[in-house]
Amino acid sequence: MDATEIAHGRLEGADSPYLFIWDIDGTLTQAPGVGRAVMEQVFRELFGIANALEGIPMAGSLDSVIVGTAFDRLGLDRRRLPEYWTRYCARLEEALAADPTARTTPNIEAVLAELDADPRAYNVLGTGNIERGAWIKLRRFGLDRFFEVGGFGDVPQERWRVIETAVRRAEARYGVAFVPERITVIGDTPRDIEAGKRLGVRTVAVATGPYDVDALAACRPDAVLPSFAVEWRPALFGSET
Ligand SMILES: [Mg+2]
Repeated sequence: MDATEIAHGRLEGADSPYLFIWDIDGTLTQAPGVGRAVMEQVFRELFGIANALEGIPMAGSLDSVIVGTAFDRLGLDRRRLPEYWTRYCARLEEALAADPTARTTPNIEAVLAELDADPRAYNVLGTGNIERGAWIKLRRFGLDRFFEVGGFGDVPQERWRVIETAVRRAEARYGVAFVPERITVIGDTPRDIEAGKRLGVRTVAVATGPYDVDALAACRPDAVLPSFAVEWRPALFGSET
């Protein structure tokens, strides 16, 4: 690509920075079922209600949508949501500390470290987790050191808005204007891919969550990886690297 080519009114060239927007659950970390189990536990503790989330889809959804839906369905007072989330964060920290199966996805720490050392690359979060929960999950594995800002699932809205917020906060934080061709959403569910496509940015799907390579490929992301333990650079940097 020619260094003087203009894209979307911005100068794009070899030095144009890359923004990588990372989902957490199934993409950076694997602790299947822990988030859901903790949410259920808090409904039991605060309201004496079992199986509060039955039938509510989790993968790729926002925490605030999942819990808000349960509150409404159960006829609970939304004024108790702050109390709910405070309890959730406390229990989440305990549950992750106690879960010997909780782990990072294969090779992800090395990938983040390499990107962190690359002056062209910026890593931010784009996740359905509430922000406090996101940092708890990352701290459990020491991955929090790779991130400063992101978009989170505190407010019920469509997932692409979370990604949009991540871009806006990255630009404000780093004083950089990213071109869509160099913004990449990385996630393990069709919802991550749909959100990126809706914003007109690149998407990379990784099959380390509940969806396999074929199911993710059907969403037509720019690239699909079985995991980050294979050669991942072409997927993240496109054909230029
Ligand atoms: Mg995920």
